[in-house]
Amino acid sequence: MKKAATAVLTCLEEAGHKAFFVGGFIRDTVLNRPVKDIDLASSARPEDVIALFPKVIPTGLKHGTVTVLSGGFGFEVTTFRTELEYENFRRPREVVFVSDITEDLRRRDFTMNAMAMDRKGRILDPFGGRHDLEAGVLRCVGEADLRFHEDALRMIRCIRFAADYGLEIEPNTWSALLANAKLLRHVAMERVRSELERMMKGSNPYRALLLLVDSRLLRNTKEKLNWALTDWILMELPPVLKHLETLPPELRWLLLAKAMKLTPIAAEREWKLLTFSQAELKRVSAFLGFDHYLESAEHHPMEMADVFKKGVLYYGEEAALTWLETMAVFHSDLNEIAVDSTAVHMHTEQWETVVLLNGLTWFKEMTVKGMDDLKINGQDVLAVTLRSSGPWLGRVLRQILGEAACNKLTNEKEALLHRAAELAIEEEKL
Ligand code: ATP
Ligand code: MG
Repeated sequence: MKKAATAVLTCLEEAGHKAFFVGGFIRDTVLNRPVKDIDLASSARPEDVIALFPKVIPTGLKHGTVTVLSGGFGFEVTTFRTELEYENFRRPREVVFVSDITEDLRRRDFTMNAMAMDRKGRILDPFGGRHDLEAGVLRCVGEADLRFHEDALRMIRCIRFAADYGLEIEPNTWSALLANAKLLRHVAMERVRSELERMMKGSNPYRALLLLVDSRLLRNTKEKLNWALTDWILMELPPVLKHLETLPPELRWLLLAKAMKLTPIAAEREWKLLTFSQAELKRVSAFLGFDHYLESAEHHPMEMADVFKKGVLYYGEEAALTWLETMAVFHSDLNEIAVDSTAVHMHTEQWETVVLLNGLTWFKEMTVKGMDDLKINGQDVLAVTLRSSGPWLGRVLRQILGEAACNKLTNEKEALLHRAAELAIEEEKL
């Protein structure tokens, strides 16, 4: 990727323009971190860039950005610019192209993001980004108070970078963040969510949550969030969240939802305010639904397998599997525990352990996990009972599904129809 990016840079220079690598690439190179993408800044105007390269995508012409496709990669080339007139504490409407790279670096958020590198690998660092990185410090470029005032999203980026890169927020930057926290209400929820997602995916999501809580930043979102994360004080942050980083990123939000004790409906509401996709809404609510279902079921040792299997039917396979994977962090050293099989009730620790230890086996035992897996359908039942359709039919099919899923009934047409006939007669008696 570096080679292909260098070819783009050289091409710009040979056409008489200035060009540098900028942003996260320099930061991650200095830190020996894996590089995700390489961005370039150039004195070339977008129209020059478009004319110069055979394959380009006009990604953000208004802001001076063109993506150059080269060597199988896409590189964003952005014209040196400053930003004018920050409107309502958001990204500016207008940008002004400039001819000097230092002017371009000055508009960037943090010193470590305001470095550039030339073709020969020499680093331009007018704001001391390297020094700050070596000292483990995250600092705004210029006057922090002004920078957060210009663009309130930078405050949440500040917390993301501090957590992800293990940096201390420089005291002046931190007090400016606290002083401007209220301005977050001018930022679209979508952009807040996108930064929150990057924090949660990052290397230290727990630290990100600590900083969010400590700063009280989330009390100021545009749409008021009604979840514990907004109200917690530092001491209230549940210790289980320290394990977030051990979970794959897609499960971390589920653990957070559980730690906040959200109901499925409440979670859906907050997720919607944060503009998560419909699929994410469904995922968190199925997970919490499954959890709540297990919690409120009878915890008789002999019944847990059936309880679990019925849960799979109601809430779906994904809910059950994500539950098993996510909830394991509450029991980091899972050991077989002694449970008296005649006991009427198990306490939470006990039944959770039993389910975590056996859930996958129970799951695999299920030859039927949904209506479609049954070897009969409604038509078959109507034919064998000679009755007309009605609500009773759904009840009979669901009963059969439950019994088949719990291996009380073989999933063969004859056995199922026999049982259907029995149940239909019972229905008639009701
Ligand atoms: P990541 O590796 O997480 O993508 P990044 O540094 O590349 O980190 P981006 O959001 O992709 O972050 O932004 C690219 C660069 O643009 C940043 O390094 C920074 O210089 C600048 N930048 C991005 N957002 C802002 C902002 N809100 N205010 C000022 N500068 C910004
Ligand atoms: Mg980036």
